[in-house]
Amino acid sequence: QAKMSRPVQARRLEGTDKNIWVEITNLAATYSKVNLGQGFPDFPPPDFLKEAFMRALSEENAMLHQYTRAFGHLPLVKILAQFYGKLLGRDLDPMTNVLVTVGAYQALFCCFQAFVDEGDEVIIIEPFFDCYELMVKMAGGVPVFIPLRPKPPKDGKLMSSADWQLDPAELASKFSERTKAIVLNSPNNPLGKVFSRAELDLIAALCVKHDILCISDEVYEWLVYDGKEHIRIASLQGMWDRTVTIGSAGKTFSATGWKVGWTLGPNRLLQPLRTTHQNSVYLCATLAQEVVAQGFQRELELYGKPESYFVQLPKELQQKRDWLVQRLDAVGMKPIIPEGTYFLLADFSEFKSDFPDVADSDEPYDSRFAKWMVKNKGLAAMPLSVFYCEAHKNNYKHFIRFCFAKEEATLKAANDILQKWKQEKTS
Ligand code: PMP
Repeated sequence: QAKMSRPVQARRLEGTDKNIWVEITNLAATYSKVNLGQGFPDFPPPDFLKEAFMRALSEENAMLHQYTRAFGHLPLVKILAQFYGKLLGRDLDPMTNVLVTVGAYQALFCCFQAFVDEGDEVIIIEPFFDCYELMVKMAGGVPVFIPLRPKPPKDGKLMSSADWQLDPAELASKFSERTKAIVLNSPNNPLGKVFSRAELDLIAALCVKHDILCISDEVYEWLVYDGKEHIRIASLQGMWDRTVTIGSAGKTFSATGWKVGWTLGPNRLLQPLRTTHQNSVYLCATLAQEVVAQGFQRELELYGKPESYFVQLPKELQQKRDWLVQRLDAVGMKPIIPEGTYFLLADFSEFKSDFPDVADSDEPYDSRFAKWMVKNKGLAAMPLSVFYCEAHKNNYKHFIRFCFAKEEATLKAANDILQKWKQEKTS
């Protein structure tokens, strides 16, 4: 038989094939007793959402099992327009200002495909959710990185994500005629940083000055702690016209497997996103959209009230954060206190003497450590280097990211592993 010999892979995929998530997730599945690696809750979505799903299934509405509107199931786009219209202080048209996507991930993919031409530069703030870089490259664009830089905390206190800041002059220096867009992720994965009004004002002023787009990934918008405020950059002066705001029902309702996400923005920006969407997935699962619409209906009615899930979830997660911060500090794995998200970074320097490292590849140290940890201690976490570009992967060698959206028992099991490890070290 004649085997096929010609190269098959399209050039646009070059350099975008590595994905450490696949690797760590596989290792975690094989070795981990406790998985605080990938970012998803191990608790179920709220009862009202599960009940809505059961109701939707038991209804005789056969259409819920069929294709729905390509750019978003009507009940969902209507309620999203109403809900976010209220938050952004403007009238949103469900048909032109909202697009439903397969999770925030597809929303991001649509943005880069729709806006980035060959050679266009896209500014990305480090550390960043790693797919931004790969998706920019796949679209033919050039990622330009600007780091958040840590300031040492005062008086022996634990570091906070707020101690990581942009240098305004350095940020300004990244904008040029070639810049097409900046990606903002607040609250930020993996650091948990919630950008302040002053920081957002600075970014907004540069966007307006250079007439560039802002792709604002706000999937952790409700997961903000200590009374901090999540500010939507689209609500700042001059920004609505140039911003696509991205959200995720997965993060919002603790249902990451449903893969319902959305983009909000002016029609001029959403039109090319709709084109990309219709040329790729075309439409998203009807049933999941129907149920998410009902979830938002409930949240609109209970907005700001104690029964609201968007009030309760951050309260519960803040307790989990505080508990894990305290436990990590006690064993000497110094955490950086996150202001938002369900992630935190911890410094494993005190544990590295146990790690029989063999630097036999150009894999970053923290990545080798995280792999060794899951294999030998049964605890899965993500190395920080994943969230940096190639040139900066070795900037911080000793941080791993834990996800704390986990049942109490899971967090306790993680703590038990660390306690035992610490005792073995000292005895
Ligand atoms: N953006 C960020 C910052 C994320 O952390 C994630 C999920 N880890 C996503 C987007 C993707 O969200 P979804 O599951 O809705 O596709």
